[in-house]
Amino acid sequence: MIISGLDPSGGAGIQADIQAITALGCHPLPVLSCLTVQDTRNVYNATATDPEIVRQQLQCLAADSPIHAIKTGALGNADVVDVLVDFLAGHPDIPLITDPVIKAAGGGDLADEALIERMKQRLFPYAEIITPNSIELALLGGDEDAARAAHNLLESGCESVLATGGHGEGDEIINSLYYRDQDPLHFHIERIGGEYHGTGCTLAASIAAGRASGLSARASIAQAQNYVLRAIRHALKVGEGQPVPDRG
Ligand code: PLP
Repeated sequence: MIISGLDPSGGAGIQADIQAITALGCHPLPVLSCLTVQDTRNVYNATATDPEIVRQQLQCLAADSPIHAIKTGALGNADVVDVLVDFLAGHPDIPLITDPVIKAAGGGDLADEALIERMKQRLFPYAEIITPNSIELALLGGDEDAARAAHNLLESGCESVLATGGHGEGDEIINSLYYRDQDPLHFHIERIGGEYHGTGCTLAASIAAGRASGLSARASIAQAQNYVLRAIRHALKVGEGQPVPDRG
C-alpha cells in the first residue's frame, strides 16, 4: 500500500511509486494523500486529500486485500498523518517504509511545520525504515552531522534510518543505514551525476516492494539501490527540468 501525493509531471510521487512497485513484481494499492501543481522543475502548489476519505480508503482496502508493506511519501497535512497512525496502530505487523518528504528537489515545499512535527512525533515510531535525504535528515534530526542527526531520530522512536547520499559529491553515493544499537551499514553505489526527479520516491517504494516480497530490510535496500541505479542510467528527458528515472 502506498500513501503519497500526485505529481502530474509523472516524475515523483504516486506515479513513481506505482511504477517502481509494479516493476518489482508487486501489486500497489495507491492511496492519494495530496495533489500538487508541479512540472519537472519544481512544485508550485499542493492541497491535501480529505483525511476522512483517506481513512475510508485505508479501512476499505484492509478489509479486502492482504497488505504486505506500506510506503508513505508526501502526506499533504498533519491530519492525514493522524488518520494513517490510527490505521497503523491496528496493523503493527506490516512493515512501514517512510520517505519523510519535505521539499521537492526544485525547492518547493511539500510539508509545513505542523506536518513535519506530526511525522516526527507520531509516524516515525511506526516506521521500520525512514529514508531521509541529507537535507531532510539535517532538518528532522536537528544536526548537520548525518550520524548525529540519525541518532537523534532513532532516539525519538523509529527503528532504522537510511540516510541517502544522492545529494553529496564524489564518484559514489553512500547510503548509510543507522540502527540504535549497531554500527551503521554503508551501501556504496555508483554515482551517475546530475539531479533526477523522483529518485527518493523510487528508492523508498522499491524498498517497500522488497519487504512485501518477503526480503529482509537489508536485501530490500540492496535490490532497491540496483533498481534506482538502472532507472537513473536510462532516465528520460520528459520536460525542461530534471530528467525522470525510467522505471519501466
Ligand atoms: N512526493 C511528491 C508528490 C512530490 O511531488 C515529490 C517531489 O517533487 C516528492 C514526493 C519527492 O520527490 P523525490 O523523490 O525527488 O524526493
